[in-house]
Amino acid sequence: MNSEIKKQILNKIKEYDKIFIFRHIRNDGDCVGASKGLKRIIQLTYPEKKVYLIDSDNAEYLAFLGPEDEPVSEDEYKDALGIVVDTASEARISNKNYTLCKELIKIDHHIPLENYGDIIWVEENRSSACEMIADFYATFKDELKIDTEAATYVYTGMVTDSGRFKYEGVNGETMRNAAIMLDCGVDTEKLYAHLYLEAFGYLKFKAEIYRRMQITENGVAYIYVDKAMQEEFNLSLEQASACVGALDSIRGAIAWMVFIENGDEQGSIRVRLRSRFVHINPVAEKYHGGGHACASGATVYSWQEAEQLLADADAHVKEYKDTHEGWL
Ligand code: AMP
Repeated sequence: MNSEIKKQILNKIKEYDKIFIFRHIRNDGDCVGASKGLKRIIQLTYPEKKVYLIDSDNAEYLAFLGPEDEPVSEDEYKDALGIVVDTASEARISNKNYTLCKELIKIDHHIPLENYGDIIWVEENRSSACEMIADFYATFKDELKIDTEAATYVYTGMVTDSGRFKYEGVNGETMRNAAIMLDCGVDTEKLYAHLYLEAFGYLKFKAEIYRRMQITENGVAYIYVDKAMQEEFNLSLEQASACVGALDSIRGAIAWMVFIENGDEQGSIRVRLRSRFVHINPVAEKYHGGGHACASGATVYSWQEAEQLLADADAHVKEYKDTHEGWL
């Protein structure tokens, strides 16, 4: 699929001596895996090229994948190719120096709210951007080089963004691409230990989540994680936000979300919305957000607005349940 665009991307990579790779703010396993994996594949294949990944935004739980490059002067970007992975809109690109690059390529699997870049490769049905990087490698495997390190980065994003190969979007193609990465020697025991073991104290926080969780009339499960709760369990914003997965297995709750108080001057509250069967992104898009059909993010600016979002989500789920069968 999209072989012409992929060919154009490979040609651009060949054409430039210097390449900068970019990803989204509030990074996750997919954008870190895709950016580091692509960087490593390019570097292994073309050792004479300079390939940079400069990003100071780093998630604690992904620290095991290693640090990024040190910043370079703005002048360095000017004659370079930029490749942005896993980022739907320009506002979400983390390193703003992407604007300085001579040409820009977008590789993404989010629903495109906006387009940017000189070459755009978007496949919103892919389960991860890393799956696209694996596919890119597989398409040109006679030319490109890969090793265990690169495959581990790419496999990390495939695993995390697909909920361990569980979410919508996972298909035979995903598994074939994952198999190519595994064949490169990924140590899955170690990888899963890094990604999924939880601290004792964090499980206590989860217990509190289960104690406090609520559900709307039509089946939207939710929890408010305000500053007081974050302080009680000594959680960073990132740790507090990670609890959305705790609500994902309630029968009949086909949408679920967490509201995390950011503690900034604007009183902003991060909302992480998830769903199965029903698509939840239309609700996110009403509240300064977006993302994927069944995994989106949004921001509200008061608890009152949070309640409004919940009411919208509840109505959205009701409409779905009234008009569809077979959901659980
Ligand atoms: P999150 O719950 O923040 O991990 O978001 C779920 C998905 O939606 C991720 O793929 C994010 O990149 C995306 N997303 C989160 N917030 C926004 C936003 N404000 N606009 C567009 N996409 C978003």
